[in-house]
Amino acid sequence: MCGIVAYLGKKPAQPILIEGLKRLEYRGYDSAGLGLINGSEIKIIKSSGRISVLEEILGEPDPKEVVGIGHTRWATHGQPNTINAHPHLDYTGKIALAHNGIIENYSTLKTWLISKGCTFKSETDTEVIANLIGYLYSNTDGKDCPKDDQNRFEWAVQHALNELVGTYGLAIICADFPEMLIGAKKGSPLILGLGKNEYVIASDAAAIVEHTTQVIYLSDNEMVTITPQGFHTKTIDNVEIHKELKQIEFSLNAIELDGFKHYMLKEIYEQPKALGMCLGGRLDLRDNRVVLGGIGKYWREFTRSKRIIINACGTAWHAGLIGEFLIEQLARINAETQYASEFRYRNPIIEDDTVVIAISQSGETADTLAAVEQARERGAITLGIVNVVGSTIARTTDAGVYLRVGPEIGVASTKAFTAQVAVLAMLGIELGRRRHLSAEQVRCYIQELSRIPSKIEDVLTLSDHIKKIAEATCDRENWLFLGRGFNYPVALEGALKLKEISYIHAEGLPAAEMKHGPIALITKGMPAVFIATKCSQYDKIIGNIEEVRARGGRTIVVANKGDDNIRPYADFLIEVPEVLEEFQPMVTVVPLQILAYHAAVLRGHDVDKPRNLAKSVTVE
Ligand code: GLU
Repeated sequence: MCGIVAYLGKKPAQPILIEGLKRLEYRGYDSAGLGLINGSEIKIIKSSGRISVLEEILGEPDPKEVVGIGHTRWATHGQPNTINAHPHLDYTGKIALAHNGIIENYSTLKTWLISKGCTFKSETDTEVIANLIGYLYSNTDGKDCPKDDQNRFEWAVQHALNELVGTYGLAIICADFPEMLIGAKKGSPLILGLGKNEYVIASDAAAIVEHTTQVIYLSDNEMVTITPQGFHTKTIDNVEIHKELKQIEFSLNAIELDGFKHYMLKEIYEQPKALGMCLGGRLDLRDNRVVLGGIGKYWREFTRSKRIIINACGTAWHAGLIGEFLIEQLARINAETQYASEFRYRNPIIEDDTVVIAISQSGETADTLAAVEQARERGAITLGIVNVVGSTIARTTDAGVYLRVGPEIGVASTKAFTAQVAVLAMLGIELGRRRHLSAEQVRCYIQELSRIPSKIEDVLTLSDHIKKIAEATCDRENWLFLGRGFNYPVALEGALKLKEISYIHAEGLPAAEMKHGPIALITKGMPAVFIATKCSQYDKIIGNIEEVRARGGRTIVVANKGDDNIRPYADFLIEVPEVLEEFQPMVTVVPLQILAYHAAVLRGHDVDKPRNLAKSVTVE
């Protein structure tokens, strides 16, 4: 996590860095800092807390300070206090850097550097990088390194990076070269924006788009050195490389609040439009097929595959679980969903004819990326379902499908989730079509899927009603979310949303599992959310609702509009439109997103920056 932004140009760097950090704040917000080159010195200003706290201690921008780096932190090593905030200076005070990632061998390096006389101020792994570069740069006697100072500095950076085990996105400045900025990447994202006489390096295009839409995505083990004369890209082994120029495909508008109080709310409301974009041009009713260009030549292997393993984390894992059910149901291929963090370390068995699907909104989720690499090494075909164009997972997988829902800023994922399910539904339909579904079945599925955006539109009108339910229940600290079949992963997702932003303890379960233990938790008035839309297990879930009511639980029931039969079972009823069972999750999850949102606001929490969380989990 963490957000990095760096600037080299002609304008004062301070406001540009602060603006960029605000756009990246969703990536981490426990402390923040700036490093600015002032003459032949580096000025560091940092503080614990949000960027707004940092802003308060900043002076007026100095027009001479046109090169600088900034960081918003999500701590991994060391408390989120001012000393541990980035940028970190090396022991000579000449080099400053901002880092996103984890240096796994920092402790060994630290011991070695201390034995060489380097001093440390913080508890972070990051300071080791600064000191290692500083040490190599200042101690070149007898080493085979370039004679001129700037090349010697680059040499020191490269040699230091080659010693690191772990991940980094880095922005580095050095007081000896006040007109130089270096960026480097391994395992954490880093993008270079090319403006007119100015350059912006950032972890995410959101911090760049205001300045330019022309970008270069650095790959692992690559670095860029920027001066006012231009930039050059190299590997960290000093091999010059040519990088292709790309275009950022979203506008500044897409990352503004647009009148909404929170990004999460904006993104919940965007879902009909976002799903429209996701499905647009992909549901071909005329030829009765699904068109997913990013799969291209891999359709053949995909259709013949014997096993599909879906890897994901968090909300994407819930979408994956729905995908597993969809692929099994529609395509009749053996599918399973794995936590990427477990899969990557489990010595997984991957036989021939296995396809591995990786789902990640950011396309940078460290565990999911590692799972992809693991699968590729073992010969599987890999397919990425990601939102961020050009992200690492998008580039690492053999084939892929973009969500096309625009930037998702709210830490609690909403529109990416529904789009992930929509993509998995499209995959299921097309695989099914290629395997065994009749033309009539395909037509019916495609038509139903194309109607989902308008069904979500209906659900959004229920916000005030759902707010009243939240008002009546959000003082309770323990909740259950229960669903069956396709709505079981929705129960998991509803519980996760509530945990993430309301800090209410919630457990999601397949409703029938309740009696094998969790039913013991039910006390008088405990909220139990049931997703009980018309489906093959409808009667069964009514039985489960009875069981909760008999023990004093208070039921919040998501059911179909016009289902009068269910009324007596619901203390609170949320009526959603009827949808084919397989596609219900995209509709039934929406009231749960809204419920979590209102509960969080009523409890006074910062919905877009939930405690301890950050979007885009780029660390293990
Ligand atoms: N490891 C660094 C720290 O703890 C950076 C953390 C991150 O990228 O999330 O400060």
